[in-house]
Amino acid sequence: MIDKPQGGRGGRLELSRLTKRHGKLLAVDSVDLQVASGEFVTLLGPSGSGKTTTLMMVAGFTTPSSGDIFLDGRSIASLAPERRNIGVVFQNYALFPHMTVAANVAFPLKMRRQSRADIATRVGDAMRLVRLEGLEQRLPRQLSGGQQQRVAIARALVFNPDLLLMDEPLGALDKSLRGQMQFELKRLHAELGVTIVYVTHDQEEALTMSDRVALMNKGVIEQLGTARELYEEPINRFVAEFIGESNLIDGRLLEDGGFASTGGTRFRVAGDTGLRSGESGWLAVRPEKFSFVPQAPDDPGIAGRISEQVYVGDFTRYRVVVEGGINLAIKVQNNRSAVRPGVGEEVRVFLNPGDARVLSNLNQGVSDEKA
Ligand code: ADP
Ligand code: MG
Repeated sequence: MIDKPQGGRGGRLELSRLTKRHGKLLAVDSVDLQVASGEFVTLLGPSGSGKTTTLMMVAGFTTPSSGDIFLDGRSIASLAPERRNIGVVFQNYALFPHMTVAANVAFPLKMRRQSRADIATRVGDAMRLVRLEGLEQRLPRQLSGGQQQRVAIARALVFNPDLLLMDEPLGALDKSLRGQMQFELKRLHAELGVTIVYVTHDQEEALTMSDRVALMNKGVIEQLGTARELYEEPINRFVAEFIGESNLIDGRLLEDGGFASTGGTRFRVAGDTGLRSGESGWLAVRPEKFSFVPQAPDDPGIAGRISEQVYVGDFTRYRVVVEGGINLAIKVQNNRSAVRPGVGEEVRVFLNPGDARVLSNLNQGVSDEKA
């Protein structure tokens, strides 16, 4: 019987200075990460950033060059994969092609030398959990991609793992099926309370499914946080560019705490900026944070002219050239009250000072540092 804990009964995972070298290449570079019991954490990042290597070290299929891995406080780094009590869903499913669905799902239990009766009960439960009842005697090639994925998930969950690792599990599915499986995975997570470390290069998938996201780049975690933190409070240029869309304006911090672009456009900013006055960096602003409506009566805004306007259904996308020569991307929601000027119109662009983020060019993210 697959246990159905109330949540928070999964294992607690800790990676400590976890490192993998391939010759000179640092595929994973001293990664620290703590995943709470029952948490859903996603490793997000471009191809080659070290996501799979990290996951495979946790699973036990890749040996770390250095560092350690703890599950519930106990080092598992030298244990064989089948002794870690970790379920793994591989990127290509990795089903045994000559075995039936039931035999695939039973495999981890056989490896663990469970009794026949136990195996039958658990396989039945796992098949119901992933909604594959009735397909037990099929071969993998007689199933659709989505069904094969469910078999892989059932096989990873059938032995009640403390931790479930999934590497781009939905990558091969079409868009509508992917959406449905995302929903199913969230249901499984809520139902089982198992701790999940998930890998994807799809930011939307990462942001919608996870409790927290670790954004990886060249073997390091650039930023770990909730979807909101990564989007609203990127800590460096790599994060601001990878997650969503950002206007990145070159310039420096002024004596009065404002920000001046290289061309002399002044922006008001609020709060601690991490830059000292005179220091150069970037102002990062999401396109929807700008508007053509005053934020405050005493705010003159920035003068500009609309150079491009594209209707995109729920919003309108603008290109606006403002004083100082900067070209801003601006998105305006298409509701009745929104001010939506046309191409060529003179406008004033407003920004709530709290919606601008000043980024230091001393912390650009790994890609630029090493370049
Ligand atoms: P991701 O899953 O984020 O796309 P990987 O973890 O697969 O990235 O790979 C990280 C880096 O390590 C890449 O540069 C990749 O080419 C390299 N790499 C992975 N496995 C090996 C290997 N067995 N030998 C040499 N280089 C490898
Ligand atoms: Mg990968």
